[in-house]
Amino acid sequence: MRKRPVYTVHQILPHAPANAVALTIDDGPDPTWTPRMLALLRKYNVRATFCLIGRQAQAHPDLVRRIVADGHAICNHSMTHPLPFSHRSAAAIGQEIDQAQSVITKAAGTAPRLFRAPGGDFPPAAFATAAKNGLTPIAWNVDPADWSRPGTQKIVASLLATRPGDILLCHDGDGNRRGDSGTDRSETVQALATVLPQLKSRGYTFVTL
Ligand SMILES: [Zn+2]
Repeated sequence: MRKRPVYTVHQILPHAPANAVALTIDDGPDPTWTPRMLALLRKYNVRATFCLIGRQAQAHPDLVRRIVADGHAICNHSMTHPLPFSHRSAAAIGQEIDQAQSVITKAAGTAPRLFRAPGGDFPPAAFATAAKNGLTPIAWNVDPADWSRPGTQKIVASLLATRPGDILLCHDGDGNRRGDSGTDRSETVQALATVLPQLKSRGYTFVTL
């Protein structure tokens, strides 16, 4: 059983190309922003890994199916995205992961093989439940803090500092709110429209985790 999450591509995919990088997109699916993200990824022929909140997947199973149909990977990102995650009881943490696994699998028609803790906050109970569900815990090592809407140029600059093997974190939803489209992700979409073609022209290979 893993007791630390994976931070870089080659820790989970040792045979990936040396120039592999992985884009992860968290907190959806969201009816406004996920379709825009999918259109952008399709335009640049990039496959990503979507870390889905179970409650959102349950509300928007059509979007989950579109994510899978486009060839992207899916990851269990808990049922309700409680923060701070590690302050919950072991039972509640287990339930968050188990319930999300069930509803995401139902919506997707295929089971996630990855788990990312809300906020990247991995308590011991999360590793046990992830292992029980056959899930590899994943973190990231490039964080533009796009969720805080720091401005498109700051997100671009952070993402352009990517090195081979990095796992990039972006968001198409909002883990802090209960409603849909709680937060404007236009900065994230605009930044990726600049960054994806540049990273591809530098020779990076985008892989799913
Ligand atoms: Zn999240």
